[in-house]
Amino acid sequence: MPARYVQPLRILVQFCFLAFMFWLGLSFYLFVRYAGSGGNSAPVPRPAGIEGFLPISGLLGLAGWLKGLGINPIHPAAVVILLTVLCVSLLLRRSFCSWICPVAAFSEYSWKAGFRGMRRNLRLPLWLDVVMRGLKYLLMVFFIYSIVIAMSAAALRDFIFSDYHKLADVRLLDFFLHISPAALGIILVLTAASVVLRNPFCRYLCPYGALLGLTAMLSPVRVTRDSDRCVSCGACNQVCPSYIDVMHQKSVNSPECIGCWRCVSHCRVKSALSMRVVGRFVIPGIVFALLVVLFFWGGTLVGRATGHWHTMLDAAEYVRLLGR
Ligand code: SF4
Ligand code: SF4
Repeated sequence: MPARYVQPLRILVQFCFLAFMFWLGLSFYLFVRYAGSGGNSAPVPRPAGIEGFLPISGLLGLAGWLKGLGINPIHPAAVVILLTVLCVSLLLRRSFCSWICPVAAFSEYSWKAGFRGMRRNLRLPLWLDVVMRGLKYLLMVFFIYSIVIAMSAAALRDFIFSDYHKLADVRLLDFFLHISPAALGIILVLTAASVVLRNPFCRYLCPYGALLGLTAMLSPVRVTRDSDRCVSCGACNQVCPSYIDVMHQKSVNSPECIGCWRCVSHCRVKSALSMRVVGRFVIPGIVFALLVVLFFWGGTLVGRATGHWHTMLDAAEYVRLLGR
């Protein structure tokens, strides 16, 4: 089967996750409305998966775990999801970015719309692009230093069990429900930038993507080019959303590669480009797609099975916290 089918398949997976995240957001909104009513309306369960939107909480929990505190019971799913995404990146590159992440999905639809309208996407000058790409690594270092290195185990425990952190999920919902003009302005600017540039938020600003990209450099799975078959047409370079020079590489190990398969899907020469394990074993697109989904869900199932999924905070505690 040609690799062309991988792109519709990837978009389908993206849409399934987008629908699931919409359901998560709606369920959490209803839960907060119930807790905010003082528990006087019909009870609504809290969806634990909402903690996937708390990467900082996940990093706090991971740091606490590394410092001997165990996986915290306040937002355990945030830790499980962060660990799962790191494992997925280690095995399947930054596939989380191009198959699951809702921000990257919106970004991709935006630049594709821009491409359809303008027949091209703009590209920053190389020097500016390099400088801007460094921003996400600076943010990553800032968060890792501030949380993993600078905070002691006692400080982590105090923060994790504080009322402030307990309501991190509610605060995030509140951010979007009562968005400030400044935050709305930033989101609109980023959206506009995403129409003309390819994935500017992921490429320049996302510290999560920076961490996943560095993790992915250890992955045995890479886009691999057969130089004997390649006819140097440049199609792979043109479609790569990360502007990677695929055409001149034996295999792609850039931290910017988001595992989207666009290069493989658009190569018209049979077997010139493929996704391979250690440069040898070809991974069919359908298998890659199944692995991305199964590893992601598998990680959350491990969290459930080991009792690190649901928060220890019951509805009465949320009622108390929201009533203050
Ligand atoms: S699209 Fe395929 S044939 Fe063309 S340059 Fe890339 S790898 Fe070579
Ligand atoms: S190298 Fe291929 S898989 Fe990686 S980002 Fe570019 S198009 Fe996607």
